[in-house]
Amino acid sequence: MKNLANNVGVSTIGIATFFLTVVVVVLIEHFTTFNIFTLSFFIVFPAGALICGAAAASGYYFGALWLHRRPTILIFVQILLVAAIAQFAIYYGEYRLLDLGDGRMASDVVSFKDYLDVYLSSTHLRVGRGALDTGAVGNFGRVLAFTQFLGFIVGGIFVFVMLRVYPVCEQCARYLRILAKKTQLFSKQEDFTRFYDTVFEVPVDGPDFVTLMKWQQEKDEKAVRGTIQSETTLRGCPHCKTQRISQEIKVWGEKEFRDVPQLTRHLRIPDGIDLTSAFKTV
Ligand SMILES: [Zn+2]
Repeated sequence: MKNLANNVGVSTIGIATFFLTVVVVVLIEHFTTFNIFTLSFFIVFPAGALICGAAAASGYYFGALWLHRRPTILIFVQILLVAAIAQFAIYYGEYRLLDLGDGRMASDVVSFKDYLDVYLSSTHLRVGRGALDTGAVGNFGRVLAFTQFLGFIVGGIFVFVMLRVYPVCEQCARYLRILAKKTQLFSKQEDFTRFYDTVFEVPVDGPDFVTLMKWQQEKDEKAVRGTIQSETTLRGCPHCKTQRISQEIKVWGEKEFRDVPQLTRHLRIPDGIDLTSAFKTV
């Protein structure tokens, strides 16, 4: 019974977010003439559609996390549906709001299908920084609309994958909640090696662990090429209270930190140990 209620809850939040996304996109277009979902890079990369598809499906993500629903095939199908419908819902919203200026609305004069035909073949492209208008693109408008459709779908799939990889308590199948985070920088390789090799070896409830987690390089040292960043996240299961630490390592390249996924690791904290307050002090 509780499962059913939670499934209905996730769907309700998902559908509400879908409607909200459509309304926001349509209203922004109505008032500013800027259509977010048609925004693309290199003409065909549908960045705006990806974002809108992910936004339309995001309710399923947050709803599932909140209500501890695992990403089932049922949720996947719903995410695909809302992502696929979103584009047409946006077209429809635009159609209903299109005022012809002579006291008539477009919806009084043409059917949605005819409107869509005209709309797609009269799509204008805005290219480059100056948003140079290329004029109507004819049939290419349908191709563009299709790439945007794919963008919506991929945005939805992205949301589902994010939900699938979200850390879960093995025992209770509930999503782990983030309890604390700690970021440390290491400018010297040997400092990092000492930290990385020992921090998971010492007892997590002992003083050495706290000392290692408190380690900080000199205050005025900035990240330069080769600086290593360790981000340690403490997560806990809201049901059985089991805790888990995960550590992600990044190295500063030219302009930014880059992930070193082979160094990512997880540590399960023995039952009964609560590291929340220890993390707060470091
Ligand atoms: Zn648990």
